[in-house]
Formats: sequence, structure tokens, C-alpha cells
Amino acid sequence: MNAKTEKKLKVAVQKSGRLSEDSLSLIRECGIRVNRSDNKLKSAASNFPLELLFLRDDDIPEYVADGVADIGIVGENVVLEKEKSVEIVERLGFGKCRLSIAMPEQYSYQSLEDFSGIRIATSYPKILRKFLHDHGLHAEIREIRGSAEIAPSIGLAEAVCDLVSSGSTLLSTRLKEVEVLLESEAVLISGKKLSREASEILASLLVRIRAVQMARNSRYILLNAPDNALSEIIEILPGLKSPTVLPLAKEGWSSVHTVIDENDFWEIIEKLKSKGAQGILVLPIEKMFA
Ligand code: ATP
Ligand code: ZN
Repeated sequence: MNAKTEKKLKVAVQKSGRLSEDSLSLIRECGIRVNRSDNKLKSAASNFPLELLFLRDDDIPEYVADGVADIGIVGENVVLEKEKSVEIVERLGFGKCRLSIAMPEQYSYQSLEDFSGIRIATSYPKILRKFLHDHGLHAEIREIRGSAEIAPSIGLAEAVCDLVSSGSTLLSTRLKEVEVLLESEAVLISGKKLSREASEILASLLVRIRAVQMARNSRYILLNAPDNALSEIIEILPGLKSPTVLPLAKEGWSSVHTVIDENDFWEIIEKLKSKGAQGILVLPIEKMFA
């Protein structure tokens, strides 16, 4: 071992599962070089003081709370269920899903009262208990490991409380989603007592993560605008600040550049065209700092 080992930020990520690939991509898009070879439990980055620990997602909150890892990337659903002493530092925008109660397709669901007295199978007993308690409902929680969706068909419960994203698993098990308890996504969590070095590395990692996230959600837009419609066109464009306007060689026309939110993109393009904008180019942004 190197005598002068520099402090590394230990980052827990899911070893293999739905969050693994996106977690690694995010780290890599931050310009951090990490290798992943199967079966390895750890991997140090070559150009940033960071080390990845590959773990089961269920264990990540505990390892972070205990300080085995400084931070972790895990579904908010797991963070809420585990109730460990960790903080959510950043929402990451991937791994989106809902924790929902589902019932057999043929059941005609009316209201929350329908849960009174029934059995609900789940691997999220704490979140479910809180939900039932908050709504003054008394249902029996059947805790099971893994996916709960077969519980009704084998007579174990009348309803399930499980994760759903597209709903296709529910359809295949002839269940329908009747109530959403939680909208979840991957989050970055940290322990409550990070060392000074770890906090400093985390701060610089966060600058990068936010730049990547902003860039992912934004597009650079360039267009040619007739000068007589310029003010109306600028009004349609909610840029970072105000758009850059440059005169074109062709008299009476200007080139307008700005950054727009990816979600507003189609609506904005329609409006721009209706005001006479031409030659509209939309480009991805690699990194963006506010
Ligand atoms: P592990 O082996 O690490 O325990 P797992 O089987 O518990 O993995 P995955 O199925 O890989 O977990 O899901 C990891 C996380 O992905 C979930 O906790 C949730 O936050 C998120 N997720 C997104 N969409 C879905 C979905 N449709 N079903 C389940 N989880 C989803
Ligand atoms: Zn798991």
C-alpha cells in the first residue's frame, strides 16, 4: 500500500440491478474514470479521489449510516423503508418508479376504506404501515421478501404494495394499481457525520453531478429570426439569462442563441416557427454550470 494514501470518498452503488448502469454512467459523465470488473467489490477511480463499493441496494443506507461508505446511490423507496440515519443530498432523476397498492383487476375499488380489514403483502412494511396509520386504516400487513405480486393469486393477501414503473408486471399478474404511496427515484445519500476531507470531495463531486444533470435537462438552441419579429421571439425563449443576438450578413435578420429546458422544447419550437424563425438548430449540451 501507498504510505501516503490520499483520502478517497467511498461511494456505495448497487452491484447489479436496475440502478447499477445509470449510477456508473453518472459517475463517468462527471469525468471520473472507474473500471468495473465483475465480482469485484471495490474499484478506485484513476483521476478523482473516489472509490466505488458495489453492494446490494438494501444494504446501502446502513453502510452509509455506519460510515463504511461516505455516500451512496439508492432508490428513495429503500431509504424511506430502512429508516437509517442518512441524508438525501440530491435527487438524481433516474430509477423512477412508484410504490403502489395494487388489487386484482376484477375488484371494483372505491376508496381507501376498501383496505380496512384486508391483507396486504409487501416488502415495504414500514412505508405501508405509515401510510395506513396516516389515513387511519387498519389492514393486516403481510411482510414478504422480493416481489409481492403473486400474493393474491396464491391466496396470501387481497392486495399488494409493490414497486411499479410501466405497470407491465402488474398487467401480467392481472393486478391494477389503485393507490400511489410514493413517487421514487434514485437519490444520493450521505452519512450525517462526514469527515472534513470526505465533505470536501463530496462538494466537488456535487458540482459535477449538478452540471451533468443540468446539461441533461437542457438544449442549446440557435435560430435565425427576422428583425421585425425579434422581440416576440426573444420573449418565447426563457434562457439562462437573456439570449445572445448577433446580426446576420443578410440584412434584416439576426441569429439568436440560448439554452432551453428539454421539457419545453417542442412547444417552444412550434411557437418560434409561427413567429417566422428559420434554420432552427437544437444541440445537446455536455456540461452546464449555472
Ligand atoms: P439487489 O440485488 O441489489 O437487492 P433488487 O432486486 O432489490 O436488487 P432492483 O430490482 O434492481 O432491486 O431495483 C433497484 C431499485 O430500482 C428499486 O429499489 C427502485 O428504486 C428502482 N426501480 C425503478 N423501477 C423499478 C421497477 N419497475 N421495479 C422495481 N424497482 C424499480
Ligand atoms: Zn434489493
